[in-house]
Amino acid sequence: MSNVFILVDLQGDAVSKTTAELATAGARMGDVTAIVVAAPGKSGAIVSTLTGPISSVISIESEDLATHGVPAYADLISQIVSEKKPSALLIASHAFGKEIAGRVAIATDSGIITDAVDVAADGTATQLVFGGSTTVHSKISHGVSIMTIRPNTIEANTAAASPAIENVSKSVSDVAKKVRITATQPFVKGGRPELTEANIVVSGGRGTNGDFAAVEGLADALGAAVGASRAATDAGWYPHTHQVGQTGKTVSPQLYVACGISGAIQHRAGMQTSKTIVVVNKDAEAPIFDIADFGVIGDLFAVLPEATEGVIARKS
Ligand SMILES: Cc1cc2nc3c(=O)[nH]c(=O)nc-3n(C[C@H](O)[C@H](O)[C@H](O)COP(=O)(O)OP(=O)(O)OC[C@H]3O[C@@H](n4cnc5c(N)ncnc54)[C@H](O)[C@@H]3O)c2cc1C
Repeated sequence: MSNVFILVDLQGDAVSKTTAELATAGARMGDVTAIVVAAPGKSGAIVSTLTGPISSVISIESEDLATHGVPAYADLISQIVSEKKPSALLIASHAFGKEIAGRVAIATDSGIITDAVDVAADGTATQLVFGGSTTVHSKISHGVSIMTIRPNTIEANTAAASPAIENVSKSVSDVAKKVRITATQPFVKGGRPELTEANIVVSGGRGTNGDFAAVEGLADALGAAVGASRAATDAGWYPHTHQVGQTGKTVSPQLYVACGISGAIQHRAGMQTSKTIVVVNKDAEAPIFDIADFGVIGDLFAVLPEATEGVIARKS
């Protein structure tokens, strides 16, 4: 059986649920080895929280990660991949994961597929392109199959894992140390879930007219992340880190609530794989209704507070 590597996806120092999704996808293709790359003294706690079909763990600790960032991570992973020669390497599809994947693909002379939404047992990846209007099935034919998989697109097997652990000692090469991080600022997360991993996303667009209180109110009642259209982020109404779409983030939550968003193709590109789409828009002709499972034609400032009250009432 072939050996498939997954890169353990970390939020801060904690294992994200995306890791179990990667393991589930990987187990279709072979035995899964989870790669943990962490600062000194951190990997033990990370390994103890792993779930999913993981047979073994390769753990690498390095004090260079904080100082040299992504190039250092990619360098260590490339060394392990070159040495162990897995058939595939699966990584979470976010900015950090995709940069690592690209660098490892170059360093190991391998093919790469990004933003896959599914992977079959024979390594064939499924991608949705051109704003989700076209489905592509493709397979890597050269080197290690390096694929990034969008969070929330694979149903995770979260059974307890009891993997064999191999601690590996590696040094970051000099070439990967050419950039030094001189200062960092922690991302202010607030109390809401991370946008790309949330089960529910409530997004606001130009229809909010800059007032996101109603959108945030519903999001908090649902335990959801807040997203925004580019019209809203470009206007400075909401941070660009919350933008959903072609030039923003791609989300695939169980529930996506689009409020005051018209449904331009560039916005759809980032959200139309959501399992259920609910639309609140006062224009019955808005194109976003074409992809809605449930639509409310109405003023968001009237509809959202009522929906929020309803959610809170049901919870209590
Ligand atoms: C290269 C490129 C990349 C792009 N990338 C992205 C991207 O990543 N993400 C993205 O979102 N866009 C992107 N865009 C922009 C995109 O084309 C649209 O301009 C943008 O999505 C529109 O945002 P919107 O739906 O909020 O605004 P609008 O299109 O102006 O729609 C506002 C909607 O709100 C409704 N509305 C108004 N008031 C209310 C109310 N009180 N209650 C209920 N409904 C109300 C209106 O009926 C309307 O349907 C990109 C464009 C380009 C050219």
